[in-house]
Amino acid sequence: MHAVAAVSFARGVMNPCVFSVSSWFDVPDVRAGGKSWQAQRVWVCSGHDFESLFPQQFSASGMVRCKLQMMRTQPVGNRWRLGPKLAAGLTLRHYRSFEGCPTLPALMQRIARASPWFDRHGIHVLVSQNDAGELTLGDSHEYGDAVDPFDKTEIDDLVLGYRGTFLDAPELRIASRWHGGYAKHEDRLAVILHPQPRVTVVTGVGGAGMTLSFGLAEQVVRRELDEAEC
Ligand SMILES: Cc1cc2nc3c(=O)[nH]c(=O)nc-3n(C[C@H](O)[C@H](O)[C@H](O)COP(=O)(O)OP(=O)(O)OC[C@H]3O[C@@H](n4cnc5c(N)ncnc54)[C@H](O)[C@@H]3O)c2cc1C
Repeated sequence: MHAVAAVSFARGVMNPCVFSVSSWFDVPDVRAGGKSWQAQRVWVCSGHDFESLFPQQFSASGMVRCKLQMMRTQPVGNRWRLGPKLAAGLTLRHYRSFEGCPTLPALMQRIARASPWFDRHGIHVLVSQNDAGELTLGDSHEYGDAVDPFDKTEIDDLVLGYRGTFLDAPELRIASRWHGGYAKHEDRLAVILHPQPRVTVVTGVGGAGMTLSFGLAEQVVRRELDEAEC
């Protein structure tokens, strides 16, 4: 990145947590680890930590936090291979890409009626395998500002139980369980805020953030640099 975009990296900062982004005569000033940097432009991408830097803007942004539970198995025995990553019926109601399917409302009604626990915990089930033979399984989606530190065994059991309805695999032994989080907006694909001159916050990319973020970053930075040149 240094060679391509003249980006310089601040190395050796003792505590790299940015604790303020302020402006001094419209020049952003970033403070972290006892140091400060003046920049022509600042893009803040702090994920779902939206209280720390710009609490007022974020509380008005319409974003919510999402907590997700996932699991990983021990390597599945006898060199068993999953092949392609798998999804099943519950996933159709999770991603907006399926909204155009004419029978989706009927499917959603059936799931809500017959197994409301999936909606209650926002569960759909994806399964993938890494080179070590371990399976990654998930996930759930619980929305709200307070992320509960305690994971729910009920959710893990539901994910594993649903897996059994579409994947026939040798016995799975769970090696690790964890939860992660992201910020999501009800309607928008991403939340872009300008809390101060020359400061842009980019967040709220939700469950598609790993897929969208490189394209989004390029789009946002290019647009703002082009505008600055005009
Ligand atoms: C379990 C799980 C499964 C997912 N699955 C998928 C998937 O299959 N496909 C997909 O596309 N997306 C998926 N996502 C979503 C994706 O991971 C997120 O949308 C994406 O990571 C958001 O990127 P971000 O850069 O906005 O925030 P983050 O990835 O959260 O990065 C923010 C970073 O900023 C740091 N930070 C925060 N505050 C400060 C501060 N004050 N100073 C310094 N650093 C700070 C944080 O420590 C963090 O490292 C998943 C997310 C989870 C949790």
